Amino acid sequence: MSFENIGLSESILRAVEKQGYDKPSPIQEKVIPLILAGKDVLASAQTGTGKTAGFTLPMLQILSEAQQSGKKPVRALVLTPTRELAAQVHESVESYSEFLDISSTVIFGGVKQMKQVARIKKGIDILIATPGRLLDLVDQGLLFLDKVEFLVLDEADRMLDMGFARDINKVLALLPSKRQNLLFSATFSSEIKTLAKKFMHYPTLVEAEPENSTVDKIIQTAYRVDTNDKLPVLINMINDGNWKQVLVFTRTKHRANKIADKLNRANISASAIHGNKSQGARTKALEDFKNSTIRILVATDIAARGLDIPLLPHVINFELPNIPEDYVHRIGRTGRAGASGEAISLVAHDEVDYVASIEKLLGEEFERKIIEGYEPQLKDARPTPQGNGGANRQKSRPKSSPPSKSRAETQLNWKKKKKFLGKK
Ligand code: AMP
Repeated sequence: MSFENIGLSESILRAVEKQGYDKPSPIQEKVIPLILAGKDVLASAQTGTGKTAGFTLPMLQILSEAQQSGKKPVRALVLTPTRELAAQVHESVESYSEFLDISSTVIFGGVKQMKQVARIKKGIDILIATPGRLLDLVDQGLLFLDKVEFLVLDEADRMLDMGFARDINKVLALLPSKRQNLLFSATFSSEIKTLAKKFMHYPTLVEAEPENSTVDKIIQTAYRVDTNDKLPVLINMINDGNWKQVLVFTRTKHRANKIADKLNRANISASAIHGNKSQGARTKALEDFKNSTIRILVATDIAARGLDIPLLPHVINFELPNIPEDYVHRIGRTGRAGASGEAISLVAHDEVDYVASIEKLLGEEFERKIIEGYEPQLKDARPTPQGNGGANRQKSRPKSSPPSKSRAETQLNWKKKKKFLGKK
Protein backbone atom coordinates (compact mmCIF):
# COMPACT_ATOMS: atom_id res chain seq x y z
CA MET A 1 0.00 0.00 0.00
CA SER A 2 1.17 3.54 -0.70
CA PHE A 3 0.30 6.79 1.05
CA GLU A 4 -1.38 7.92 -2.20
CA ASN A 5 -4.07 5.24 -2.07
CA ILE A 6 -4.64 5.18 1.67
CA GLY A 7 -7.21 7.98 1.46
CA LEU A 8 -5.31 11.07 2.60
CA SER A 9 -5.74 14.54 1.11
CA GLU A 10 -3.20 16.33 -1.11
CA SER A 11 -2.12 18.70 1.64
CA ILE A 12 -1.37 15.85 4.02
CA LEU A 13 0.43 13.85 1.32
CA ARG A 14 2.62 16.88 0.65
CA ALA A 15 3.66 17.01 4.29
CA VAL A 16 4.30 13.25 4.34
CA GLU A 17 6.42 13.55 1.22
CA LYS A 18 8.36 16.38 2.82
CA GLN A 19 9.20 14.02 5.70
CA GLY A 20 10.69 11.65 3.13
CA TYR A 21 8.45 8.68 3.99
CA ASP A 22 8.19 6.26 1.04
CA LYS A 23 5.33 4.14 2.20
CA PRO A 24 3.18 3.64 5.26
CA SER A 25 4.65 1.55 8.08
CA PRO A 26 2.73 -1.65 8.98
CA ILE A 27 0.85 0.04 11.83
CA GLN A 28 -0.01 3.01 9.61
CA GLU A 29 -1.35 0.69 6.90
CA LYS A 30 -3.66 -0.87 9.44
CA VAL A 31 -4.87 2.08 11.49
CA ILE A 32 -5.14 4.94 8.97
CA PRO A 33 -8.07 3.42 6.98
CA LEU A 34 -9.85 2.43 10.20
CA ILE A 35 -9.53 5.89 11.73
CA LEU A 36 -10.63 7.53 8.47
CA ALA A 37 -13.71 5.29 8.58
CA GLY A 38 -14.53 6.79 11.98
CA LYS A 39 -13.77 3.70 14.05
CA ASP A 40 -12.47 3.59 17.60
CA VAL A 41 -9.09 1.86 17.45
CA LEU A 42 -7.19 0.00 20.15
CA ALA A 43 -3.68 -0.51 18.81
CA SER A 44 -0.62 -2.18 20.23
CA ALA A 45 2.38 -0.26 18.97
CA GLN A 46 5.37 1.27 20.61
CA THR A 47 7.70 4.13 19.75
CA GLY A 48 9.56 3.48 16.53
CA THR A 49 6.65 1.92 14.66
CA GLY A 50 5.42 5.20 13.19
CA LYS A 51 2.38 5.21 15.47
CA THR A 52 2.36 9.00 15.82
CA ALA A 53 1.78 9.53 12.11
CA GLY A 54 -0.58 6.56 12.29
CA PHE A 55 -3.04 8.49 14.42
CA THR A 56 -2.11 12.06 13.45
CA LEU A 57 -2.52 11.84 9.67
CA PRO A 58 -6.13 10.54 9.66
CA MET A 59 -7.01 12.80 12.59
CA LEU A 60 -5.79 15.83 10.61
CA GLN A 61 -7.77 14.67 7.61
CA ILE A 62 -11.01 14.36 9.59
CA LEU A 63 -10.53 17.67 11.41
CA SER A 64 -9.66 19.57 8.24
CA GLU A 65 -12.65 18.15 6.35
CA ALA A 66 -14.98 19.69 8.89
CA GLN A 67 -13.27 23.05 9.41
CA GLN A 68 -14.79 25.37 11.95
CA SER A 69 -14.91 29.09 11.65
CA GLY A 70 -14.45 31.59 14.46
CA LYS A 71 -12.57 30.92 17.65
CA LYS A 72 -11.49 27.32 17.71
CA PRO A 73 -12.35 25.09 20.64
CA VAL A 74 -10.16 22.09 21.40
CA ARG A 75 -11.39 19.47 18.93
CA ALA A 76 -8.75 16.80 19.44
CA LEU A 77 -6.98 15.85 22.64
CA VAL A 78 -3.86 13.69 22.70
CA LEU A 79 -2.81 12.53 26.16
CA THR A 80 0.74 11.30 26.72
CA PRO A 81 2.50 10.04 29.85
CA THR A 82 5.59 12.25 29.68
CA ARG A 83 6.53 15.77 28.77
CA GLU A 84 9.06 14.58 26.23
CA LEU A 85 6.56 12.45 24.41
CA ALA A 86 4.04 15.30 24.44
CA ALA A 87 6.65 17.62 22.90
CA GLN A 88 7.56 15.02 20.27
CA VAL A 89 3.97 14.34 19.31
CA HIS A 90 3.40 18.08 19.01
CA GLU A 91 6.40 18.41 16.73
CA SER A 92 5.00 15.66 14.52
CA VAL A 93 1.53 17.22 14.47
CA GLU A 94 3.06 20.56 13.48
CA SER A 95 4.98 19.08 10.58
CA TYR A 96 2.14 16.92 9.28
CA SER A 97 -0.27 19.90 9.42
CA GLU A 98 2.09 22.33 7.71
CA PHE A 99 -0.18 22.72 4.66
CA LEU A 100 -3.46 22.75 6.57
CA ASP A 101 -5.34 25.39 8.49
CA ILE A 102 -5.10 23.38 11.68
CA SER A 103 -3.55 24.72 14.84
CA SER A 104 -2.02 22.74 17.68
CA THR A 105 -0.22 23.28 20.91
CA VAL A 106 1.32 21.31 23.74
CA ILE A 107 0.90 21.71 27.49
CA PHE A 108 2.78 19.98 30.27
CA GLY A 109 3.93 20.65 33.79
CA GLY A 110 7.35 21.75 34.93
CA VAL A 111 7.25 25.01 32.99
CA LYS A 112 5.30 28.22 33.60
CA GLN A 113 1.71 28.01 32.41
CA MET A 114 1.37 31.59 31.12
CA LYS A 115 2.51 30.96 27.57
CA GLN A 116 0.48 27.79 27.35
CA VAL A 117 -2.65 29.58 28.51
CA ALA A 118 -2.14 32.43 26.06
CA ARG A 119 -1.88 29.95 23.22
CA ILE A 120 -5.04 28.11 24.28
CA LYS A 121 -6.95 31.39 24.53
CA LYS A 122 -6.26 32.10 20.87
CA GLY A 123 -8.09 28.88 19.99
CA ILE A 124 -6.56 25.60 18.89
CA ASP A 125 -7.76 22.47 17.12
CA ILE A 126 -5.38 19.93 18.59
CA LEU A 127 -4.12 19.87 22.14
CA ILE A 128 -1.34 17.51 23.19
CA ALA A 129 -0.99 17.25 26.94
CA THR A 130 0.17 15.34 29.97
CA PRO A 131 -2.73 14.66 32.35
CA GLY A 132 -1.54 16.72 35.36
CA ARG A 133 -1.19 20.14 33.75
CA LEU A 134 -4.28 19.54 31.63
CA LEU A 135 -6.48 19.02 34.68
CA ASP A 136 -4.79 21.89 36.43
CA LEU A 137 -5.80 24.30 33.66
CA VAL A 138 -9.33 22.87 33.56
CA ASP A 139 -9.65 23.35 37.33
CA GLN A 140 -8.54 26.96 36.95
CA GLY A 141 -11.28 27.50 34.36
CA LEU A 142 -8.69 28.27 31.69
CA LEU A 143 -9.42 25.31 29.44
CA PHE A 144 -12.63 23.64 28.26
CA LEU A 145 -12.84 20.19 26.78
CA ASP A 146 -16.54 20.00 25.99
CA LYS A 147 -16.03 20.22 22.21
CA VAL A 148 -13.51 17.39 21.90
CA GLU A 149 -14.35 15.13 18.94
CA PHE A 150 -11.18 13.08 19.02
CA LEU A 151 -9.37 11.52 21.95
CA VAL A 152 -6.00 9.77 21.69
CA LEU A 153 -4.38 8.02 24.64
CA ASP A 154 -0.78 7.55 23.58
CA GLU A 155 1.35 4.99 25.45
CA ALA A 156 -1.64 4.24 27.63
CA ASP A 157 0.11 1.36 29.39
CA ARG A 158 2.78 3.72 30.62
CA MET A 159 0.18 6.22 31.77
CA LEU A 160 -1.32 3.50 33.94
CA ASP A 161 2.14 2.44 35.17
CA MET A 162 2.77 6.02 36.18
CA GLY A 163 -0.43 6.16 38.20
CA PHE A 164 -2.47 8.33 35.85
CA ALA A 165 -5.59 6.11 35.98
CA ARG A 166 -7.52 8.56 38.16
CA ASP A 167 -6.48 11.54 36.07
CA ILE A 168 -7.54 9.76 32.89
CA ASN A 169 -10.94 9.06 34.41
CA LYS A 170 -11.27 12.70 35.39
CA VAL A 171 -10.43 13.79 31.84
CA LEU A 172 -12.90 11.29 30.36
CA ALA A 173 -15.64 12.79 32.52
CA LEU A 174 -14.98 16.22 30.98
CA LEU A 175 -15.42 15.11 27.37
CA PRO A 176 -18.62 14.98 25.35
CA SER A 177 -19.85 11.43 24.89
CA LYS A 178 -19.93 11.57 21.09
CA ARG A 179 -16.32 11.36 19.95
CA GLN A 180 -13.82 9.06 18.27
CA ASN A 181 -11.38 7.29 20.57
CA LEU A 182 -7.94 5.90 19.87
CA LEU A 183 -5.74 4.07 22.33
CA PHE A 184 -2.12 3.15 21.68
CA SER A 185 -0.27 0.90 24.06
CA ALA A 186 2.86 -1.24 23.88
CA THR A 187 1.03 -4.08 25.63
CA PHE A 188 -2.57 -5.25 25.93
CA SER A 189 -2.61 -5.93 29.66
CA SER A 190 -5.85 -6.64 31.50
CA GLU A 191 -5.69 -3.08 32.89
CA ILE A 192 -5.54 -1.67 29.38
CA LYS A 193 -8.47 -3.81 28.31
CA THR A 194 -10.48 -2.64 31.32
CA LEU A 195 -9.65 0.98 30.54
CA ALA A 196 -10.56 0.52 26.88
CA LYS A 197 -13.91 -1.03 27.79
CA LYS A 198 -14.68 1.96 29.94
CA PHE A 199 -14.52 4.62 27.25
CA MET A 200 -14.19 3.10 23.80
CA HIS A 201 -17.03 2.26 21.48
CA TYR A 202 -16.65 -1.20 19.91
CA PRO A 203 -12.94 -0.62 19.25
CA THR A 204 -11.17 -2.42 16.44
CA LEU A 205 -8.12 -4.24 17.75
CA VAL A 206 -4.91 -3.71 15.81
CA GLU A 207 -1.61 -5.35 16.61
CA ALA A 208 1.54 -4.34 14.82
CA GLU A 209 4.82 -6.12 15.12
CA PRO A 210 7.06 -3.30 16.33
CA GLU A 211 9.85 -2.84 13.83
CA ASN A 212 12.31 -2.05 16.54
CA SER A 213 11.65 -5.00 18.78
CA THR A 214 12.26 -7.76 16.31
CA VAL A 215 14.67 -9.37 18.67
CA ASP A 216 16.65 -10.88 15.77
CA LYS A 217 18.00 -7.47 14.89
CA ILE A 218 19.05 -6.80 18.47
CA ILE A 219 21.97 -8.70 19.90
CA GLN A 220 21.13 -9.19 23.56
CA THR A 221 23.78 -10.15 26.05
CA ALA A 222 23.66 -10.50 29.82
CA TYR A 223 26.91 -10.20 31.74
CA ARG A 224 26.94 -11.47 35.32
CA VAL A 225 29.00 -8.98 37.29
CA ASP A 226 28.98 -7.88 40.88
CA THR A 227 27.40 -4.50 41.58
CA ASN A 228 30.72 -2.89 42.50
CA ASP A 229 32.26 -3.95 39.20
CA LYS A 230 29.53 -2.53 37.00
CA LEU A 231 31.01 0.93 36.63
CA PRO A 232 34.53 -0.15 35.59
CA VAL A 233 32.99 -2.68 33.22
CA LEU A 234 30.80 0.01 31.68
CA ILE A 235 33.73 2.40 31.28
CA ASN A 236 35.87 -0.32 29.72
CA MET A 237 33.15 -1.28 27.27
CA ILE A 238 32.61 2.29 26.14
CA ASN A 239 36.32 3.02 25.83
CA ASP A 240 37.24 -0.24 24.19
CA GLY A 241 34.44 -0.08 21.65
CA ASN A 242 34.97 3.67 21.21
CA TRP A 243 31.20 3.95 21.40
CA LYS A 244 29.89 7.37 20.50
CA GLN A 245 26.22 7.14 21.42
CA VAL A 246 25.10 4.93 24.26
CA LEU A 247 21.90 4.96 26.23
CA VAL A 248 22.44 3.63 29.76
CA PHE A 249 19.49 2.68 31.93
CA THR A 250 19.24 2.72 35.71
CA ARG A 251 16.36 2.01 38.04
CA THR A 252 16.76 5.13 40.15
CA LYS A 253 17.27 8.84 39.56
CA HIS A 254 20.03 8.91 42.15
CA ARG A 255 21.98 6.19 40.35
CA ALA A 256 21.47 7.91 36.98
CA ASN A 257 23.08 11.07 38.40
CA LYS A 258 25.90 9.13 39.98
CA ILE A 259 26.81 7.24 36.84
CA ALA A 260 26.69 10.35 34.65
CA ASP A 261 29.00 12.00 37.18
CA LYS A 262 31.46 9.12 37.28
CA LEU A 263 31.53 8.81 33.49
CA ASN A 264 32.30 12.51 33.14
CA ARG A 265 35.12 12.07 35.63
CA ALA A 266 36.43 9.25 33.45
CA ASN A 267 36.41 11.68 30.49
CA ILE A 268 33.34 10.13 28.90
CA SER A 269 30.83 12.93 28.33
CA ALA A 270 27.46 12.05 29.83
CA SER A 271 24.21 13.55 31.09
CA ALA A 272 21.46 12.12 33.21
CA ILE A 273 17.79 12.40 32.33
CA HIS A 274 15.11 11.70 34.93
CA GLY A 275 12.01 13.06 36.57
CA ASN A 276 13.81 15.29 39.07
CA LYS A 277 15.55 17.27 36.34
CA SER A 278 13.93 20.48 35.17
CA GLN A 279 12.25 20.42 31.80
CA GLY A 280 15.02 22.63 30.41
CA ALA A 281 17.73 20.27 31.63
CA ARG A 282 15.95 17.24 30.19
CA THR A 283 15.47 18.87 26.80
CA LYS A 284 19.09 20.00 26.73
CA ALA A 285 20.42 16.56 27.67
CA LEU A 286 18.40 14.94 24.92
CA GLU A 287 19.47 17.53 22.34
CA ASP A 288 23.12 17.17 23.37
CA PHE A 289 22.82 13.43 23.00
CA LYS A 290 21.10 13.61 19.63
CA ASN A 291 23.66 16.00 18.17
CA SER A 292 26.57 14.07 19.72
CA THR A 293 27.72 16.82 22.08
CA ILE A 294 27.62 14.10 24.73
CA ARG A 295 28.27 10.40 24.21
CA ILE A 296 26.23 8.88 26.98
CA LEU A 297 22.69 9.50 28.13
CA VAL A 298 21.91 7.90 31.47
CA ALA A 299 18.17 7.53 31.88
CA THR A 300 15.52 6.13 34.16
CA ASP A 301 12.71 4.20 32.51
CA ILE A 302 10.10 6.88 32.89
CA ALA A 303 12.28 9.67 31.53
CA ALA A 304 13.31 7.62 28.50
CA ARG A 305 9.81 6.58 27.63
CA GLY A 306 8.76 7.70 24.19
CA LEU A 307 12.00 9.44 23.30
CA ASP A 308 12.66 9.36 19.59
CA ILE A 309 16.35 8.62 19.32
CA PRO A 310 17.11 7.36 15.84
CA LEU A 311 19.66 4.69 15.02
CA LEU A 312 20.95 4.04 18.48
CA PRO A 313 23.61 1.35 18.32
CA HIS A 314 24.03 0.53 22.02
CA VAL A 315 21.71 0.27 24.96
CA ILE A 316 23.12 -0.78 28.31
CA ASN A 317 21.03 -1.92 31.22
CA PHE A 318 23.30 -0.85 34.03
CA GLU A 319 20.55 -2.08 36.29
CA LEU A 320 17.81 -4.45 35.21
CA PRO A 321 14.28 -3.07 35.38
CA ASN A 322 11.98 -4.64 37.96
CA ILE A 323 9.07 -4.36 35.51
CA PRO A 324 9.86 -6.84 32.71
CA GLU A 325 7.96 -4.82 30.09
CA ASP A 326 10.40 -1.97 30.70
CA TYR A 327 13.18 -4.19 29.38
CA VAL A 328 11.34 -4.47 26.07
CA HIS A 329 10.91 -0.70 25.95
CA ARG A 330 14.56 -0.19 26.77
CA ILE A 331 15.96 -2.49 24.12
CA GLY A 332 13.45 -1.04 21.65
CA ARG A 333 15.81 1.96 21.62
CA THR A 334 18.34 0.06 19.59
CA GLY A 335 18.24 -1.59 16.20
CA ARG A 336 15.81 1.00 14.91
CA ALA A 337 14.87 1.68 11.30
CA GLY A 338 16.18 -1.69 10.19
CA ALA A 339 19.66 -1.16 11.62
CA SER A 340 21.03 -3.74 14.01
CA GLY A 341 21.79 -2.87 17.59
CA GLU A 342 23.20 -4.23 20.77
CA ALA A 343 21.52 -4.46 24.16
CA ILE A 344 23.81 -5.31 27.03
CA SER A 345 22.62 -6.08 30.54
CA LEU A 346 24.88 -5.99 33.57
CA VAL A 347 23.33 -8.41 35.99
CA ALA A 348 24.22 -8.43 39.68
CA HIS A 349 23.41 -11.42 41.89
CA ASP A 350 20.31 -9.74 43.28
CA GLU A 351 18.98 -9.09 39.76
CA VAL A 352 18.98 -12.67 38.55
CA ASP A 353 15.30 -12.99 39.40
CA TYR A 354 14.56 -9.92 37.28
CA VAL A 355 16.27 -11.64 34.38
CA ALA A 356 14.06 -14.67 34.90
CA SER A 357 10.92 -12.53 34.66
CA ILE A 358 12.21 -10.86 31.51
CA GLU A 359 13.01 -14.22 29.98
CA LYS A 360 9.51 -15.37 30.77
CA LEU A 361 8.06 -12.33 29.01
CA LEU A 362 10.30 -12.75 25.96
CA GLY A 363 9.85 -16.52 25.88
CA GLU A 364 13.56 -17.04 25.50
CA GLU A 365 16.59 -17.44 27.66
CA PHE A 366 19.57 -15.12 27.80
CA GLU A 367 23.05 -16.38 27.47
CA ARG A 368 24.88 -15.26 30.63
CA LYS A 369 28.46 -14.29 30.06
CA ILE A 370 31.23 -13.65 32.50
CA ILE A 371 33.99 -11.12 31.98
CA GLU A 372 37.56 -12.13 32.61
CA GLY A 373 38.86 -10.25 35.60
CA TYR A 374 35.34 -9.41 36.76
CA GLU A 375 34.11 -12.86 37.69
CA PRO A 376 31.21 -12.50 40.15
CA GLN A 377 32.10 -13.27 43.73
CA LEU A 378 28.54 -13.18 45.00
CA LYS A 379 26.24 -16.12 44.52
CA ASP A 380 23.07 -15.70 42.44
CA ALA A 381 19.79 -15.23 44.21
CA ARG A 382 17.97 -18.53 44.43
CA PRO A 383 14.25 -18.83 43.83
CA THR A 384 12.24 -18.80 47.02
CA PRO A 385 8.91 -20.57 47.43
CA GLN A 386 7.24 -17.20 46.74
CA GLY A 387 9.72 -16.07 44.10
CA ASN A 388 9.62 -16.96 40.46
CA GLY A 389 13.39 -17.10 39.93
CA GLY A 390 14.88 -20.04 38.13
CA ALA A 391 11.61 -21.90 37.79
CA ASN A 392 10.40 -19.42 35.18
CA ARG A 393 13.60 -19.74 33.30
CA GLN A 394 13.12 -23.40 32.78
CA LYS A 395 9.50 -23.04 31.86
CA SER A 396 9.98 -20.10 29.54
CA ARG A 397 12.47 -21.63 27.18
CA PRO A 398 10.67 -22.62 23.98
CA LYS A 399 10.78 -26.38 23.47
CA SER A 400 12.46 -25.99 20.11
CA SER A 401 15.32 -23.78 21.29
CA PRO A 402 18.70 -25.32 21.99
CA PRO A 403 19.80 -25.59 25.59
CA SER A 404 21.91 -22.64 26.67
CA LYS A 405 25.63 -23.03 26.93
CA SER A 406 27.22 -23.91 30.19
CA ARG A 407 28.90 -21.14 32.09
CA ALA A 408 32.35 -22.61 31.48
CA GLU A 409 31.77 -22.73 27.74
CA THR A 410 30.47 -19.18 27.73
CA GLN A 411 33.38 -17.90 29.72
CA LEU A 412 35.84 -19.51 27.37
CA ASN A 413 34.24 -17.88 24.34
CA TRP A 414 34.23 -14.54 26.04
CA LYS A 415 37.90 -14.83 26.90
CA LYS A 416 38.75 -15.64 23.34
CA LYS A 417 36.71 -12.83 21.85
CA LYS A 418 37.14 -10.11 24.42
CA LYS A 419 40.47 -9.82 26.05
CA PHE A 420 40.05 -6.12 26.65
CA LEU A 421 38.37 -6.16 30.00
CA GLY A 422 41.30 -7.07 32.18
CA LYS A 423 41.07 -5.41 35.59
CA LYS A 424 43.41 -2.49 35.93
P1 AMP B 1 6.94 6.99 16.20
O1 AMP B 1 6.79 5.51 16.34
O2 AMP B 1 5.66 7.66 15.90
O3 AMP B 1 7.67 7.59 17.36
O4 AMP B 1 7.86 7.23 14.90
C1 AMP B 1 9.18 6.81 14.83
C2 AMP B 1 9.94 7.46 13.69
O5 AMP B 1 9.50 6.96 12.44
C3 AMP B 1 9.79 8.97 13.62
O6 AMP B 1 11.07 9.52 13.52
C4 AMP B 1 8.99 9.22 12.37
O7 AMP B 1 9.39 10.41 11.74
C5 AMP B 1 9.34 8.02 11.51
N1 AMP B 1 8.26 7.60 10.59
C6 AMP B 1 6.93 7.62 10.79
N2 AMP B 1 6.27 7.12 9.73
C7 AMP B 1 7.19 6.76 8.83
C8 AMP B 1 7.14 6.17 7.51
N3 AMP B 1 5.99 5.85 6.94
N4 AMP B 1 8.30 5.94 6.88
C9 AMP B 1 9.48 6.24 7.48
N5 AMP B 1 9.61 6.79 8.69
C10 AMP B 1 8.48 7.06 9.37
